[in-house]
Order: sequence, then C-alpha cells, then structure tokens
Amino acid sequence: MTNVEILQQLAVPADTKLVLLVLDGLGGLPGEESGRTELESARTPNLDRLARQHSVGLATPLIPGVTPGSAPAHLALFGYDAFRYPIGRGVLSAVGVGLDLQPADVATRVNFATMQDGVITDRRAGRIPTEEAERLCRALSAIKIEGVDITVKAEMQHRAVIVWRGEGLSAAVSDTDPQKTGAAPLPARALEPGAQRMADIVNRFVAEANRLLAGEPRANTILLRGFGRLPDIPKITDLYRLRAAVIAAYPMYRGLAKLVGMEELPAGETFKDQLESLKRAWHDYDYFFLHVKGTDAAGEDGDFARKAAVIEEVDGLLPELLALSPDVLVITGDHSTPSRLKAHSWHPVPVLLASRWARPNPWIEGFGESDAVRGSLGPIRSQDLMGLMLAHGLRLQKFGA
Ligand code: ZN
Repeated sequence: MTNVEILQQLAVPADTKLVLLVLDGLGGLPGEESGRTELESARTPNLDRLARQHSVGLATPLIPGVTPGSAPAHLALFGYDAFRYPIGRGVLSAVGVGLDLQPADVATRVNFATMQDGVITDRRAGRIPTEEAERLCRALSAIKIEGVDITVKAEMQHRAVIVWRGEGLSAAVSDTDPQKTGAAPLPARALEPGAQRMADIVNRFVAEANRLLAGEPRANTILLRGFGRLPDIPKITDLYRLRAAVIAAYPMYRGLAKLVGMEELPAGETFKDQLESLKRAWHDYDYFFLHVKGTDAAGEDGDFARKAAVIEEVDGLLPELLALSPDVLVITGDHSTPSRLKAHSWHPVPVLLASRWARPNPWIEGFGESDAVRGSLGPIRSQDLMGLMLAHGLRLQKFGA
C-alpha cells in the first residue's frame, strides 16, 4: 500500500479546520554579509512566536538534491507522490484559466514570441500585456482545421493556452519552442506512430498563426510546449473526506488545486484580500490552501530585500488568520528560491506546524532555516505534511488493533 492509500483508509470526517499557507519559494540561503537567510532577516514577531510555541522542521520537497518545479512541489504538499502524476504545462494552464478540460482533450502552453528573419529574438514577445494577448487569442480563434475544435485563451502576459478537441488526437507531439533565442522555431514532430495527424494539425495551426500575426510589432509568432492530457489523479476531497478550497491569485496554482478537488475562492490582489476571502468562506470548508507568489518572484529576481519584505507583510497580517483559530496551520514553501541563486533550488524548506497538539520547541529563536534544523518536527518530506495535518486535526483513526 502507498502512504496515500493508508491515509485514505484511516481518514475520518471531523469538525476541524486545516490551513496550508504556502509562501512560494520560501527557503533561502544566507546573505553574503549578514549570514542570515531572507526568512531569518525578515522581522517576523508573529511567525517567531508561533514557531517557538509549536513545531518547526525542514521539509524536503521531493527527494534530496532534486530541484522541483512549483507544480510537483505543490502536489507533494497536497500529499501526493509527485513523480507518479506528471502534469504538463498545457494542462495546468488550461485548468488555471478555467477551461473545461475533457479526458480526451489535449492542452498546450503557448508563448507569444518575436521572430526576425526566421529566428526567435524574444521568447516572451517583450512580455506583452495580458490585454494584448487576449486580442491576439481572439484573432487566432478564427483558425479552422477540419475535425478539430480549437480553443485559444490568454493566460497572463505573453502566455496562453490551446485546447484541442476531436477524434483521434494525441498528446505525443514534440514542443515547437527551441528554448533559446537565435534559433528557429521547431516543427512539431510525432513522438509515437499514431501521433502524425496531430503533429500535422499543430504545424498547420502554427503556419496559419504566423500569417495572422505577421503585422504584429512584438508578438508575431507562437511557441508551443507541454502537450498533455488531464492526469487521472484522485481528489483530496475523496481521499481524506475533506471539503477543500484554494485562495490563490496565480492561475497555475488555482488550476493545480482544482485538479485535486479544491474549489476556487476569490483571491483579489493582495494577501489581505486573500484573508478576507478566507474569513468569508471559513464555515464552508475544512481545508484551505492559500498561495503567496511574491516570495518566489523576488527570489528569482535575486532581490533579497524584497523577498524579506513579502515575508514581513505576511507576518504582519498573520494575527487576522490566527483570529480564526484554525485547528491546524501549516506555513511553508513549496521549494526554496534563494535570492543568491535567482532560481528554484533543491534545499529543504522550513516548515511550521501550529496546532494545540503540536509538540513545542521553545528552545529555538524563531522561524528560520537554522532553527528549523533543531525543531521538534525534525526533517520530513513535504509529502508527509498532509498526514500530519490530518493527524493534528484529529482526522485519522488508529492503524491496527
Ligand atoms: Zn514554487
């Protein structure tokens, strides 16, 4: 039996509230002068008090040494073996923008890009505004290919998604994105014998798109990647008998959460808005997933101070969340994004588990990477947090007699 199957057998409904607050890319590395990470440098009296009174530890997102993308890292936080459920970018985007994906549909991520003399000069078309992408998507929606129903929808900035619906389609098609500038876009190729028709459809679509976009100053071509279908993933609502909701501003995270059975609640623009949404829905669900993107975005920009500032903003509003008295509150990241690396990394992530049943670790100073090593939660895998949340919410029966 897998861990998920064991938890599924033991899970019982209860009148407890569980909250998972993810600060994307929370983990960091010490700044060169201060010797403290972004989280340790941030002034966070609320997190520090919570950390001392409850449990902290370090969570390994997938397996030691592996740097995860945000999607598998979140699947782990929701309790899944992320390696078992690979999810393509196209599927994530489609679900994220609210497209109703059917099991036979194929979804593809689209980047608007700039091409000059047959080579890509900007893979993101100068990050055109979302409204511009929306206009271009409407234009591309006019492309008709026999036997396929094609939906094109803008996501954010230069990103969009295509859903292909029809008989005999395939997701076994290679990307057209060369992944670098100075190179020509690649033709879509069939990756297995039955996929040639799909590759032909994709190449025809791209040719038509190039014709329609030819007069555009920036977004004069499209790059396609991540052809995929909906994975057959069991929902946490069924597995653990929870009513679950997501409050996330970014489409990808909403999409991922909806894939595993969470209902979407309004997220607004700020963390304050997310908390208002949480308060309004507090009595309607048992499990809430809140997602904060600013920490990861600042880390990827190499902006140590901004990452710390995002953490401070969350800390400042934490009393509003605590006023709801969640039975279990987990605060962690999906992975580390150290500002010094300007990228996701493999480093384990500090995790804080607050519950009246948590074993306190009063000997630590606060919530940070160094203290997390000495925390009462110890080193864990992110995937194990779901079981710990259910347990602290008194939602798991005893195993065996
Ligand atoms: Zn992430």
